Amino acid sequence: MTSRTGAPRIDLHTHSTASDGTFTPVELVRAAGTARLDVLAITDHDTTAGWAAAVDALPPGLRLIRGAELSCRWSGTEPAVPLHLLAYLFDPDHPELVAELARVRAAREDRGERIVALLRADGIDVSWPEILAGADGGTVGRPHIAQALIRAGLVGSTREAFGSDWLGERYRLPKDDIDVFQAVRLVRSAGGVPVFAHPRATRRGRVVPDELITELAAAGLAGLEADHEDHSPAERAHVRGLAADLGLLVTGSSDFHGTHKTVQLGAFTTGVEAYERIVAEGVTEVASG
Ligand code: AMP
Ligand code: ZN
Ligand code: FE
Ligand code: FE
Repeated sequence: MTSRTGAPRIDLHTHSTASDGTFTPVELVRAAGTARLDVLAITDHDTTAGWAAAVDALPPGLRLIRGAELSCRWSGTEPAVPLHLLAYLFDPDHPELVAELARVRAAREDRGERIVALLRADGIDVSWPEILAGADGGTVGRPHIAQALIRAGLVGSTREAFGSDWLGERYRLPKDDIDVFQAVRLVRSAGGVPVFAHPRATRRGRVVPDELITELAAAGLAGLEADHEDHSPAERAHVRGLAADLGLLVTGSSDFHGTHKTVQLGAFTTGVEAYERIVAEGVTEVASG
């Protein structure tokens, strides 16, 4: 593939206002052009709603991988471990996948409302209708609740809102996520390419054992995200080693969320070989600006 300046700059994990990012899909692809990326993936939580606007607004020279980040759980331990599965280039009309994404989005609303009820029971004045309105039709998540805590002057930043006194632990509730084996199977049956997002992000909470990743590889997992801001250098190296052992591709990505996080587009990137494997395995075309 050609690049703008030497090695292509490929960022395969970003969020827009279709979920919990702060840039609209149009703003996201424009920002990717300004950041001189060659390839961007849009991977909103549990939705493909941002795809069309992003494709229509692609600046010249930018390629777009249409994707999503699926909310999953591994039930091999009690309580189940939540985890994220990136899915690239799948058929957005696959009925079973469409239904499962809709179910998870509804489960997110249910959980958000229950978190707000817990907060209110402790005298914290946050409003669920206002938080839902803040998501503006996008997939609702804890970052939207974090914004309400910031507006109420209770915390100073999203990061603080994810501390253990708030949404990170005290007011953290599980949601009804997709079983991760079912998710891998569904993504593959929709022609997509499943990549385990930030699999060793211990700072976010519990992580799954290597044995599970071995089983997921056998079930159709294509790759592991190694370079991510929530991985320490040792965690990145471990993920690379595991991927090499299992024959999985390795990605690196910003997980950009606009102003909900400090990380910038292109802060971590993916090599061209991994990109080409994803393109070869996916059923949807890469869109070009
Ligand atoms: P949810 O999907 O509702 O469980 O919320 C998880 C989302 O919150 C992640 O996708 C991130 O966007 C964000 N998040 C998680 N941990 C943090 C953190 N420590 N600081 C800022 N944002 C975070
Ligand atoms: Zn997010
Ligand atoms: Fe994630
Ligand atoms: Fe993400």
